[in-house]
Order: sequence, then C-alpha cells, then structure tokens
Amino acid sequence: MTWHVLGAGSLGSLWAARLARAGLPVRLILRNRERLAAYQQAGGLTLVERGAARRYAIPAELPQADAPIHRLLLACKAYDAEAAAAELAPRLAADGELLLLQNGLGSQDAVAQRLPQQRCLFASSTEGAFRQADFQVVFAGNGHTWLGDPADPLPPPWLDELERAGIPHQWSPDILARLWRKLALNCAINPLTVLHDCRNGGLREHPAEVATLCAELSELLQRCGQPAAAEQLHEEVQRVIEATAANYSSMHQDVAQGRRTEIAYLLGHACATARRHDLQLPHLQHLQQRLLAHLGARGLPLD
Ligand code: NAP
Repeated sequence: MTWHVLGAGSLGSLWAARLARAGLPVRLILRNRERLAAYQQAGGLTLVERGAARRYAIPAELPQADAPIHRLLLACKAYDAEAAAAELAPRLAADGELLLLQNGLGSQDAVAQRLPQQRCLFASSTEGAFRQADFQVVFAGNGHTWLGDPADPLPPPWLDELERAGIPHQWSPDILARLWRKLALNCAINPLTVLHDCRNGGLREHPAEVATLCAELSELLQRCGQPAAAEQLHEEVQRVIEATAANYSSMHQDVAQGRRTEIAYLLGHACATARRHDLQLPHLQHLQQRLLAHLGARGLPLD
C-alpha cells in the first residue's frame, strides 16, 4: 500500500524520508507545477539527522494525478488541511484512510466532515523538525507520536509499518484528551511568549498571569468533557516552562519570522469552545484580543 504524503514541509519530509528508507512505497503530493519542478530540480528530499545529510529521491506528483489514494498522510498546517483534503477527495478510495498530523483542534473535524466515507486518524506529535532550505529538513528533536481515532478505538492494521520505519508511536484510544492537553499547554505558554517577546523561560517573570490562564483552561477542559486533560495542568505548564526555558515557542518563531500562525486552531479554538458552552473565561478572551491586535499590527493573518 502506497503512503501518499501531502506537504513536503518539516513533518511531511521527516515522515516520508523514514518510510522510504524502510523500503515502503511513498509518493509526495506537491501543491503545483512550480513546486514540483523545484522539487525535481533539487533531486529529492534531504533529511539532516545528527549533522549528517542524506537525500531521498522520493517520487512526487500533483494533487490532480490519476492514481487512487488509499492511505494519505496530511502533513500541512492546520489552516491548509481542509482545502488540501477537499482537493484530493476525488482521488480517495472509499476505504481510504487519512492520518492528520495537524497541531491544535478544529482542522481534523473539518477534514472528517468533508470526507465522511474515509477513516480519519488524528495524531499528536512531540517530534521536532524544521526546514533549513527548500526540500531540506533538519530532524531537530526526538519525540513520540500518538495516533487515535475518536470514532473507533481499534488501531489500523498498518502500525507495524511505522515500527519498521523507526517512527516512535503509540495507539491512543483517547486521542482527543491528548490533543486537548497539548492545546491547553500551548494556550498557557505560546501567546504570552509572543506578547512579552520572550523565550519560554521569560514566563517565570509572569507567574500570576500563567496561573490565572491555567485555572481558566482547566475550567474549559472540565466543561467540554475532558477532565483528564485538566489534571495538574498548572504543574505541567510550570514544568514545560522550566524544561524549555531557553527555547522560543513555535508561535513566537512564526511571528518573529512574519509567518502565519495556527492561532485559530489553538487559542481561537479554546475561546470558540468556551463561547459554545456559555462559559465566561475573561482572561483567556482578553489574551485572544491582545494576540489578535498584536498580529494585526504586524500585518499577519488573524485566522
Ligand atoms: P511546514 O513545514 O510549513 O510544512 C507544511 C507543508 O504543507 C509545506 O511544504 C506546504 O507546501 C505544504 N502544503 C500546504 N498546502 C498544500 C497543498 N494544498 N498541497 C500540497 N502541499 C501543501 O509545516 P510543519 O512544521 O511540517 O507542520 C505541519 C503540522 O504539524 C502543523 O500543524 C504543525 O503545528 C504540526 N507540528 C509540527 C512540528 C514540527 O516540528 N515542525 C511538530 C509537531 C507538530 P509549500 O512548501 O509549497 O508551502
């Protein structure tokens, strides 16, 4: 069974290279003719691991190619996921499966609603990768990927292929709790690092602000049926701030480099869910307003 991978960005390249080198059939789907030509010019994907670069000449195609897709790894940003899935819908086999790598929440449901026939698996990953140049990706941090399907607790039969490819993973029957927990950690840390223009460790100077946000986020998680994700949230946020004190958060990096953020699927999703539940979370809502004003002032998209 061929792995079609949409998006030769950071995570898509990391997955495609490891699957291909394990001898599994992989095809990349690139946005348009220009990107395909640039990829062919580069001669494949380069993955840099522990300082060593290796190129993988993985075949690539356009979204409009003919061959049916049975297994799709959707490795674009959350704001591109629904449109990318819709474009591929005519090629998806009725028994096709999608693995959605997007951070945050909201994009997965949008994709699943567009594709009611296909099975959509959700993923949450702590692996780290970044693009150092076009089609050149650096594997920056070992991590783990949890996979799950909110509609079906049974794992798919192909997890052994991930084993063969050396992709650390685990089937998670409660993937939503994991995604909500990660979203809450993100909401408590990332927006504040943007507004205070600091590394994660800089939030040690703002303990009251962090504590208030954690209390509101815990309330939200309880209200939306995710009590496990609320447990000891503040303690974990403090641990993450310490463990990653020297790092700039992904949102800080996006804003600093003038890139679109995934705010709508992180803090935006949290605030929209609170409104749906008639829950007043004044600090979280104020945080969203401040962040949107900050992005707007820099000419960055608000969604
Ligand atoms: P990225 O480096 O920006 O890669 C996204 C890729 O998707 C780009 O190559 C982009 O193409 C491609 N793309 C978008 N729309 C497309 C379309 N319609 N057809 C074909 N290709 C399309 O993003 P990323 O860092 O891999 O992040 C992907 C997701 O994983 C995000 O939700 C992110 O939050 C999450 N995540 C990332 C990491 C990490 O370390 N990078 C870790 C955990 C989670 P172009 O190259 O043409 O723009």
